[in-house]
Amino acid sequence: MKLIRSIQALRREISRLRKNGKTIGFVPTMGALHEGHLSLIRRARRDTDQVVVSIFVNPTQFNQKKDLLGYPRRLRSDSVLCQKAGTAILFVPDARSIYPENFQTHVAVEQLGRRWEGQFRPGHFQGVATVVTKLFNLVEPTIAYFGQKDAQQARIIQQLAEDLNFDIRVKVLPTIREKSGLAMSSRNKRLSEKQKTGALVLVNALREAGRLVQLNEVRSSVILARVNRLIRSAGQVRSEYSAIVDPATLEPVSRVRTTALVLLAAWVGSVRLIDCGFIHTKRKN
Ligand code: AMP
Repeated sequence: MKLIRSIQALRREISRLRKNGKTIGFVPTMGALHEGHLSLIRRARRDTDQVVVSIFVNPTQFNQKKDLLGYPRRLRSDSVLCQKAGTAILFVPDARSIYPENFQTHVAVEQLGRRWEGQFRPGHFQGVATVVTKLFNLVEPTIAYFGQKDAQQARIIQQLAEDLNFDIRVKVLPTIREKSGLAMSSRNKRLSEKQKTGALVLVNALREAGRLVQLNEVRSSVILARVNRLIRSAGQVRSEYSAIVDPATLEPVSRVRTTALVLLAAWVGSVRLIDCGFIHTKRKN
């Protein structure tokens, strides 16, 4: 595995790979890697000839300085994990090379970025869309991999790739969870054991929503009332939003037809967590 820090060196490697006709799988991350990230890398390894992983804690997607400063950074163990998972190139640029002094161009995916995370984290998706656009230009991947856990982000990237004519397949892979059901997240490292137990109410709420539609309750208002009551009952968790949306548009639906997506965001102490899950109506035969 090659650890590359400069854009110039990355470009040289990428053009060599492309000249040799290699397909490139790309997994952009912010590091503090866990099984969620590794599942993307392993899948990329299976699908493509060479895997590029980036680790960049992107300052422009943090709307709170404290969150940026407190974000876990562990390059040494991350690079061991990347190597074991079959990464060919680990790209770790610094903020100055990604955002030089005179940087002034931004990418915004308008409709999909407006609600949910976009509303509660102003500027977040513009930061994400801009850095992913830059990374797509630098890595020139054949396939790029994203996690369903960040459902809105994944939809935004798909839209961005289509709108900006990137010749890149965007694959979205399922959320990896702890045995307990808690969605894996680099931010979980900042939770105490007690908070982790409290945070399980999020996955329980998703399961409850799934159970209700299976019982033919398809009214979003009723399902959300139940979800919110459940989250409130866990003392240490404060819901920020909960929504039932169309998986393509991410607009709220009043009734669940076939498949909908439940989106949750909540604070556990000073840590903000998101989770989501598909819910399906009973299939009519
Ligand atoms: P991050 O390092 O949090 O920016 O995440 C990098 C990529 O890993 C994104 O595409 C995330 O959606 C994905 N990811 C993060 N957590 C998980 C998880 N628990 N399961 C699957 N993918 C994940």
